Amino acid sequence: MIAENILSVENIIKEKSNKDDIKDCKCKLIAVSKTKPVSALKEAYDYGIRDFGENKVQELTEKIPEMPDDIRWHLIGHLQRNKVKYIVDKVYLIHSVDSLRLANQIDVEAKKKNVNVNILIEVNVAKEESKFGLMTDEVKDLVLEISKLENVHIKGLMTIAPYDENPENNRVYFRKLKELALEIDSMNIPEVEMTELSMGMTNDYPIAIEEGSTYVRVGTGIFGERNYNI
Ligand SMILES: *Cc1c(COP(=O)(O)O)cnc(C)c1O
Repeated sequence: MIAENILSVENIIKEKSNKDDIKDCKCKLIAVSKTKPVSALKEAYDYGIRDFGENKVQELTEKIPEMPDDIRWHLIGHLQRNKVKYIVDKVYLIHSVDSLRLANQIDVEAKKKNVNVNILIEVNVAKEESKFGLMTDEVKDLVLEISKLENVHIKGLMTIAPYDENPENNRVYFRKLKELALEIDSMNIPEVEMTELSMGMTNDYPIAIEEGSTYVRVGTGIFGERNYNI
């Protein structure tokens, strides 16, 4: 089932990217495995998935030793400063940086472990009150501040769009995130890249790819519904 699901997601990525081979697509697939058992992750791995997304530090640190070491782990959920030390040398990309205090903490822990950490800035484009992430007009100032940190490297932006039965309604948010990335890119801030746009989930990733996503984060569409009551 998991393999079939991945195949159909990859087919949509190829179709939306106008490519015959998934390796030629600018948009990469992150399998979001939160709440799912390691056996499910292994199935996805055996199919060929190497990018996995988790949203909790504890779950991530429990799963890492159980899985092969050529995986690129993406932290996609809200990160508390006191948890940074557990993951800073284990993750490939942190998608959810939304404050200078958090970025500073990542820099401190990265220096202790002598690593460089790639991050995205999380933007609350849809201005949802319940969500983490910066308001659009705060992003440039934060990027400028974070760019001065030696061991933290900004690679782009991330957003979580609201759930909408009609995913077409989220197109405007994806477009805004892309526009913001282009504006920041044109500022030519030293050490700052705007190459990655992490946007699109099970419900709306085809639209996100049309709007320039380079990382879609797909959970339910690969592993099935999550059950938080177990
Ligand atoms: C859970 C989660 C996803 C995946 O959501 P699905 O709708 O199951 O694809 C993507 N991004 C973030 C930040 C998440 O927390």
